[in-house]
Amino acid sequence: MTGTVQLIGPATRRPRDTASVAQSHASPANVVVLDGRPLAAKVRAQVRRQVGGFRRRFGYVPVLAAVIIGRERASRVYVEQILRASRLVGVDSRVVELPRSASADELRQELELLNADAQVAGIIVQQPLPRQIPLSTLTDTILPAKDIDGIHPLNTGLMTLGYEGFLPACAEAAVEILKFHGYSLEGRRAVVIGRSNVVGKPVQLLLVREHCTVTVCHRRTRNLADEVRRAEVVVSAAGSAGLVTADMLQPGALVVDVGINVVRGGIVGDVDFDSARGVAEAITPVPGGVGPVTNAILLEHLIRAARWQKTGHPITAGHGRKRRVA
Ligand code: ADP
Repeated sequence: MTGTVQLIGPATRRPRDTASVAQSHASPANVVVLDGRPLAAKVRAQVRRQVGGFRRRFGYVPVLAAVIIGRERASRVYVEQILRASRLVGVDSRVVELPRSASADELRQELELLNADAQVAGIIVQQPLPRQIPLSTLTDTILPAKDIDGIHPLNTGLMTLGYEGFLPACAEAAVEILKFHGYSLEGRRAVVIGRSNVVGKPVQLLLVREHCTVTVCHRRTRNLADEVRRAEVVVSAAGSAGLVTADMLQPGALVVDVGINVVRGGIVGDVDFDSARGVAEAITPVPGGVGPVTNAILLEHLIRAARWQKTGHPITAGHGRKRRVA
């Protein structure tokens, strides 16, 4: 491990052209750690103001419902973080806990109750679901207007066609963290590792929306290292600790680590941070990178969902607003 790590916030950070950085070979001494907390705080401050305005106008505070199935440590940590973030912006939250052995019908019934509850503006469900519950139980039941993590096919379709809806929060966070730290993405070669519906696929679409040229890698990619080495922007969402090492990166790469892996009681990403920071221009830490931004973005979706439900946005009638965003 070499060099020192700087935590550079948006106030001090100058937008840089990553191509020129790549040529000048970023040294480990000036690697930029893409701290997610300042962006999360900025988004939360905005949401907090919007929650105040909502309460003055409609006389109540919207509720975020989190459904967890089974009580593993990872889901507990996840829910605790969301609850803490909810408190910070002044929205109410409700946790619905089902046993790990819950049936698809039980989940459907809980979701229907939450769908019907006018105070519940948004619903998130901890994934992956246990084996006996198909994902379709969730996507067939959750109302698109309350689907603040963008898993319903309506929201997926709106995203794909570039219309306004709810994006998967984690994918949105992965892109927003780079933009917040001043990196322009236009024209960059990007590699996304992972093709899951929750992260890999949406990240790929959002990077194209930002005008990147995108390659998607997955378990059957023949030579992952070669693909990653060509990338100026690397987003890893594989769920595999230590998958991306320094020798796979080009000097000056921008690295966004979306992986959350529980290793020896702690949480690490997919990227070997200690080696990668010697080569990368900028890298997100795990924890403290994409995670806090994801939570803040979920809350932004929640207040937007609440407003849309009150003011009759087309998504509340099961179709999206025909306003292209990309
Ligand atoms: P997440 O929900 O974080 O996206 P998933 O487990 O659903 O995680 O998906 C992991 C994705 O990462 C899959 O698309 C898989 O093909 C990809 N992946 C996993 N391991 C590797 C690997 N060693 N090399 C390349 N891709 C991988």
